[in-house]
Amino acid sequence: MIELKSASEIERMAAAGAIIHALFAELEPRVVPGATTLDLDSFAEEFIRSHDGAIPLFKGQYGFPGSLCTSINEEVVHGIPSADRPLVEGDIVSVDVGVRLEGWCGDSARTFGVGNIGAQAELLLDVTRRSLDAAVAAAVPGNHVGDIGAAVEKAARGSGFHIIRDLVGHGIGRELHEDPQIPNRGKPGDGPALREGMVVAIEPMIATGTWRIRTMEDGWTMSTADNSLSAHFEHTVAITARGPRILTGPSAPVTSTLEMGS
Ligand code: MG
Ligand code: MG
Repeated sequence: MIELKSASEIERMAAAGAIIHALFAELEPRVVPGATTLDLDSFAEEFIRSHDGAIPLFKGQYGFPGSLCTSINEEVVHGIPSADRPLVEGDIVSVDVGVRLEGWCGDSARTFGVGNIGAQAELLLDVTRRSLDAAVAAAVPGNHVGDIGAAVEKAARGSGFHIIRDLVGHGIGRELHEDPQIPNRGKPGDGPALREGMVVAIEPMIATGTWRIRTMEDGWTMSTADNSLSAHFEHTVAITARGPRILTGPSAPVTSTLEMGS
């Protein structure tokens, strides 16, 4: 069942999202050679808990041990923060984080480069970021879930990269994962209609070599099947009458819908 959120509920989700946006600003300068993903996780947990009523949403969710998912290079999602693998120049690391604030959830991810990264990695980050931007712009009342996936596909087309097929975005609210699923591929007009008051986590994951993934021995980390690089960008987005509102970004209230249409 798709649950619609009231304007005041969306404001509460925006407050959770603002903590995540501020956290990413703090994390970015800490993603440097020599840092470990456990360092980032410890910082993130303390930062989140320093806000009254906020808790790290991922910690303990389905038994996950970290406050962050930290996925390096070929790792797509759900990497466990670790002290064992210091970041090195040229790595890319996807950081996914959720916050629950007084019962309401936010979920966002970014892939950071560690120092100078190669041209292919730069392009991968750029394509994935632009795919998220295009998908967010399609999150308007009257469109359908398929329009979001179609926007990701259109933005990634021509890059030679591959959209991860088996992992999807989701509705979000009081729970991290609510209906509907938001695939990163689709046809315009397919799937549930997007309605004012829906809040969704849109999260394209794109890899350089293949869309196929495998689960690693730790039971959590998903990596590309061919160990090619993978990137992940995600925002929590409210669908409003005035257009998509990114709840985990800078607090500009409404994104332009001028690029709408097929
Ligand atoms: Mg996430
Ligand atoms: Mg998510």
